Amino acid sequence: MPETIHVKTRSRTEMVDMTSLVQNEVSKSGISDGVCMVYVPHTTAAVTINEGADPSVCQDILTKLTEMVPPDAGYRHMEGNSDSHIKASLVGNSVSVLVENGRLVLGTWQKIFFCEFDGPRSRKAYVKVY
Ligand code: ZN
Repeated sequence: MPETIHVKTRSRTEMVDMTSLVQNEVSKSGISDGVCMVYVPHTTAAVTINEGADPSVCQDILTKLTEMVPPDAGYRHMEGNSDSHIKASLVGNSVSVLVENGRLVLGTWQKIFFCEFDGPRSRKAYVKVY
């Protein structure tokens, strides 16, 4: 089994910076050069890499996604969370980051974000370093 990162989300839509948790798994793996894959095994959550310096960027992403995919738009799915499913597919279920000298190779402003679209919930992400 891959390593599991547990993420507790606090609102219906939220982006949680999980970079340090992913870096911990890279360090634990003992692999110094390779690839780190982060995979989110949920249908209403996702993972992305974007700017972590200014929190307004994540707020803008979430606001625009909700404008593009409103909660009530005559969806068929009976569970009432089709907007969450659509947002999850738009953002995607995995990211891969290069690892060098035991460190994630990210751009200066980049962070890895767990994206919640139907919270608050206890979530998880799988991490594999190879
Ligand atoms: Zn559903």
